[in-house]
Amino acid sequence: MLTIFGTVALDTITTPKKTLKNSLGGAAAYAAISASHFTKVGLVAVVGTDLPNKDYKILSRHATLDGLITRPGKTFRYEGKYDKTMSTRTTLNTELNVIEGFTPTLPNTYASSRYVYLANNDPDQNITLLEKFGKGVKMSMCDTIDFWINTKRASVIKMMKMVDVAVMNDEEAVLLAQSEDNLAQCAKKIQKETGVPYLIIKKNQHGSLLFYKSKIVAAPAYTLENVVDPTGAGDAYAGAIIGYIAGLDKQTMSIKDLKRAITYGNVMGSFAVEGYGLDGLLSKAKNTRVINLRATKYTNSLPL
Ligand code: AMP
Repeated sequence: MLTIFGTVALDTITTPKKTLKNSLGGAAAYAAISASHFTKVGLVAVVGTDLPNKDYKILSRHATLDGLITRPGKTFRYEGKYDKTMSTRTTLNTELNVIEGFTPTLPNTYASSRYVYLANNDPDQNITLLEKFGKGVKMSMCDTIDFWINTKRASVIKMMKMVDVAVMNDEEAVLLAQSEDNLAQCAKKIQKETGVPYLIIKKNQHGSLLFYKSKIVAAPAYTLENVVDPTGAGDAYAGAIIGYIAGLDKQTMSIKDLKRAITYGNVMGSFAVEGYGLDGLLSKAKNTRVINLRATKYTNSLPL
């Protein structure tokens, strides 16, 4: 089982063609739905009393919700706007609401979980949850975003010191490294400061770079002509990576496993951008057959 902790949100996203208001989103929601195609997922998150029942139902179809807590108040809200080319998103508003001051607990039903993904969330809360797992974890992974790097950098660093894999996008890597250098230099600085063995830097439509043991593995994105809404692509990518590894459930993960996992990450990320909000993941990544078909197309598109 894979435990995913992070935000479940009501997102308002503006793309050049449309504004989507209060739509179910959040890093943990995207990651959980993506990972659920590879393994059993247990979600840990906090929402307010305003989360519509239909959204609760969507989540329940993909994950066990014993760790989804409802607190009085409003659900976490995020508002972002894409530029004309949809390559840059500006954050217009982040409302923490019920996630502020939340202390996560681990339901007994998740006790057998050996894989943990700390999706984008308050790093202090992520640390609290990871500490509850003790030593039984086979793989832990975390993500972060500019908001947390700007407000809680020391906690982001502390969280990264505790995990096996960290993911972030290129802008976040530059911000975290506090450096004007290229990505390879930023990765080196981040790994030196945190000691994280595997660092993945996502470059949106240009794919990702995995840094480990002084090696670099570059993976292109699955190229699409029509991108509808890029929101959640990174979360779907990360969810698929750890979901795939959890599905294998080996004693030790090989680099070959991780490379295959990254292939699925790129595939699930590409489904996520094909619809507004969660719609791409929910309607396009229908089943394992469709996902594997795209994984084969992706692999065949690689030069080697
Ligand atoms: P991505 O497009 O992969 O960066 O993920 C976007 C998702 O991250 C949205 O659904 C947001 O609700 C969520 N998100 C945005 N800002 C934050 C934040 N500061 N902490 C946690 N989740 C966030």
